[in-house]
Amino acid sequence: MDDLFAPEQRIFDEAVKSAQETGCVKCKDLAKEYGRLLKQLRRATKVSDRTTRTLNTSKHDLLDKVHFDVLTEIYNRRFLDENLARIIKSISRSGGELSVLMMDIDYFKKYNDTYGHSEGDACLKAVAEVITASLARADDFAARYGGEEFCVVLPNTDEGGARLIARKILENIRTKGIPHEKNKAAECVTVSIGAVTSVAAHTQTGDDYIRQADMALYKSKRNGRNQYTYIDFKEDTQ
Ligand code: GH3
Ligand code: MG
Ligand code: MG
Repeated sequence: MDDLFAPEQRIFDEAVKSAQETGCVKCKDLAKEYGRLLKQLRRATKVSDRTTRTLNTSKHDLLDKVHFDVLTEIYNRRFLDENLARIIKSISRSGGELSVLMMDIDYFKKYNDTYGHSEGDACLKAVAEVITASLARADDFAARYGGEEFCVVLPNTDEGGARLIARKILENIRTKGIPHEKNKAAECVTVSIGAVTSVAAHTQTGDDYIRQADMALYKSKRNGRNQYTYIDFKEDTQ
């Protein structure tokens, strides 16, 4: 690494040399004092560099934490809100499609009532893991939207892709086989899913996708749960 104080070091070396050559006592004392101050400056710079590095690391850690849900360790709603608008804008420039899935654990209140709140927490964690593991591409992500609701964002994914991921999530959660004796839809924990796809446009908002995926999710609940419903995105449905 380059010595930040190389010029000062050179001045010091020359001062010592010339003090020795001339035998000037005052010059020797001055050179000694200069050397002492240079040493102090080096030490202070090192401490300041270390503090800056620690501060930067803490800042990154903090920003990361702000975007993650503490219980499930997947992205939180804040991250979703902050990124969905950006994703829509970015995909709309290339004329790509965006799919959004909303999902909700079936009869989760009964799960808590039957097995207790901490088992409920463990179940939420397990479901979040299964959802995340069901995603195929690096750009896909899942976020905890609320209590037992999750949202999956699939950039550049068409209806076929959205249906495929919805089926995969349902299948993987069933395969996980977390017992849920009060689930009227199956013997284990299940989720209901709503899916929506659209060619992204700058006129759309993240809320448009979430609201419509939520409507589809509601249909899945009404039709017996443990299933997904796909609906085409409709402009201006608010
Ligand atoms: P549905 O099939 O219609 O979705 O019924 P549900 O019982 O899942 O829905 P409801 O909205 O009535 O209940 C959601 C439950 O989720 C109630 C709430 O106590 C529980 N819940 C929300 N957040 C948490 C959490 O962080 N931990 C635990 N253990 N439970 C939670
Ligand atoms: Mg719910
Ligand atoms: Mg529920």
